[in-house]
Amino acid sequence: MAGEPQADCLFCKIVAGTVPATVVRETGTTVAFRDINPQAPTHILIIPKVHYPDAASLTAAEPGIAADLLREAGEIAAEEKIDGHGYRVVFNTGAGAGQTVFHAHAHLLGGRGLEWPPG
Ligand code: AMP
Ligand code: ZN
Repeated sequence: MAGEPQADCLFCKIVAGTVPATVVRETGTTVAFRDINPQAPTHILIIPKVHYPDAASLTAAEPGIAADLLREAGEIAAEEKIDGHGYRVVFNTGAGAGQTVFHAHAHLLGGRGLEWPPG
């Protein structure tokens, strides 16, 4: 069924607690944890507890949860004090854009200058 946990999904395992992560915040619908390979001084992943392969499919099925991800991104940016200088929220979608984990997730990046356009 859409949204159900997938046995072979790393982020479903983090939601279930069977794979450890450095969790910074959790809500009823989301979990946020530090990226294991940070690309900026602050690099946090914000994921829905439900499994959808990417941001577009999540938003089509559960727009409220997609909004939860964005709300959490803003609140965590303030908590991490990266909101003053500026931060970026990224949804890599598809292998050609660098997506490697096919469970929707937002990257929250900040704490350094961020170039535009990204590579
Ligand atoms: P993406 O490449 O957009 O699919 O993002 C996946 C992200 O997950 C990458 O930035 C990885 O560094 C990160 N990642 C992979 N495994 C883990 C893990 N066990 N804990 C935290 N972050 C992870
Ligand atoms: Zn999953």
